[in-house]
Amino acid sequence: ASGCSLLRDPRYNKGLAFTEGERDAHYLRGLLPPAIFNQELQEKRLMHNLRQYEVPLHRYMAMMDLQERNERLFYKLLINNVEELLPVVYTPTVGEACQKYGSIFRRPQGLYISLKEKGKILEVLKNWPEKSIQVIVVTDGERILGLGDLGCQGMGIPVGKLSLYTALGGVRPSSCLPITIDVGTNNEKLLNDEFYIGLKQKRATGQEYAELLEEFMHAVKQNYGEKVLIQFEDFANHNAFDLLEKYSSSHLVFNDDIQGTASVVLAGLLASLKLVGGTLVDHTFLFLGAGEAGTGIAELIALEISKQTKAPVEETRKKIWLVDSKGLIVSSRLESLQQFKKPWAHEHEPVKSLLDAVKAIKPTVLIGSSGAGKTFTKEVVETMASLNEKPLILALSNPTSQSECTAEEAYTWSKGKAIFASGSPFDPVEYEGKLFVPGQANNAYIFPGFGLGLIISGAIRVRDEMLLAASEALAAQVSQENYDKGLIYPPFSNIRKISAHIAAKVAAKAYDLGLASHLPRPKDLVKYAESCMYSPGYRSYR
Ligand code: NAP
Ligand code: MN
Repeated sequence: ASGCSLLRDPRYNKGLAFTEGERDAHYLRGLLPPAIFNQELQEKRLMHNLRQYEVPLHRYMAMMDLQERNERLFYKLLINNVEELLPVVYTPTVGEACQKYGSIFRRPQGLYISLKEKGKILEVLKNWPEKSIQVIVVTDGERILGLGDLGCQGMGIPVGKLSLYTALGGVRPSSCLPITIDVGTNNEKLLNDEFYIGLKQKRATGQEYAELLEEFMHAVKQNYGEKVLIQFEDFANHNAFDLLEKYSSSHLVFNDDIQGTASVVLAGLLASLKLVGGTLVDHTFLFLGAGEAGTGIAELIALEISKQTKAPVEETRKKIWLVDSKGLIVSSRLESLQQFKKPWAHEHEPVKSLLDAVKAIKPTVLIGSSGAGKTFTKEVVETMASLNEKPLILALSNPTSQSECTAEEAYTWSKGKAIFASGSPFDPVEYEGKLFVPGQANNAYIFPGFGLGLIISGAIRVRDEMLLAASEALAAQVSQENYDKGLIYPPFSNIRKISAHIAAKVAAKAYDLGLASHLPRPKDLVKYAESCMYSPGYRSYR
């Protein structure tokens, strides 16, 4: 191969890190300036450049350019600077990138499957250059983060999630495939935008939608086999629950918005018991928001309590209450409720407002998952603090502007009593001379390790027990030092180790359930998971 093509291939390009010998052997003489940088120096230089950009979107674009130029260096940066770069390649910046995808779009980064490809999806999959795929993240762009319908521009989400699969979970980049299914968009602004990159039509629904997805799911299994993980991401809830249910018995499917969120929040709850005392069954839960996140978390809590107490899940659901846009979900509303809310319609008189629900239900744990900001008012937080010695308050709605309350509000309004974590990051807060460090219930704690566990065991189906195992593994990674600061999640800087532990527990569960196809079962699964992880150091080409 010519030196030029080596420099242009992001998988092999090392830029100034090519050694003298490599420059001779691969016709690179003269194509590079004389200096030789090692990867550490390249990293230092790039981080320095990145920090010059004041606008987050510019940092995002610089990272995307790097990914397209020198993949190993991209992952080196991401792994070594996780806390700083996570908000750049993922939420919140990726949201803005999706909104502006039409104008920042340069080169395709994933596979687009639109209604035009109906009947030809298998051929489309074969156009992708990599043949051995282990993880697909797919979106239809209808509910991108808290930003709504971004149609085809949702592609930033699968791309971002998969770069986290590699950086945080160690899945090889070549085995990751981002896909956007374009069935149109109902976003008027995009439909009228001359730079919109997607199909300019209203969303297909009903049978037309179901048929395209069916063809897609079929083609994926046909092309990549039974063990490819398909992660559904940012589908609207009216499709998300149905797709997950429909395909969970025939494919290896995982919905991060429902299941990943549930697992990461359950982990935080399990860890918080160290701070508030008791076991899960001693608690009463109230949710604001009964969609993918809310009902997903609620169900996993009920399953964990059921596992701990041996009580049937129909029983354990009864201490979990949810409020949606119409008020408390109660049995008199049963008829008109969407399917996924029905298990939560308990016997109670109707209650309209969150504050009244808090007073009526007297929860020990309050979880916000509605997407609506500023809903945990002073009165709500004060009531939680008057009911509980240590109220647990989780404000999960993203991005920051939609958070139910800020960390500062949670600590000051509860007079320092609250244990607080949020979906979007908040800085530590000083209150009456004490420093409170809020935790971040970020899905990125779970899905990379979860996926790695499925891959290393060759799992063919996802089961709820695996989600519980992942939660327990994450909770076990919180150290005494973290607890002392009020944290219920470990710091992200250890994420690769955390992911290995999660992967090991998930894989163990897959073996126990007879769903693992990678045999024999490795003896030390943590070590095995670590040994499988992609490492971004340069290879020698001599
Ligand atoms: P979703 O499926 O659309 O559900 C939203 C729910 O909130 C619905 O039940 C809706 O009620 C209810 N709701 C909306 N506005 C409300 C209001 N003003 N008062 C009371 N209820 C209201 O959305 P989702 O996927 O669950 O996501 C919800 C939020 O959680 C988003 O902001 C997302 O960013 C966040 N989230 C955070 C994490 C994390 O922190 N790790 C993970 C996932 C999601 P109706 O059903 O009556 O319409
Ligand atoms: Mn999502």
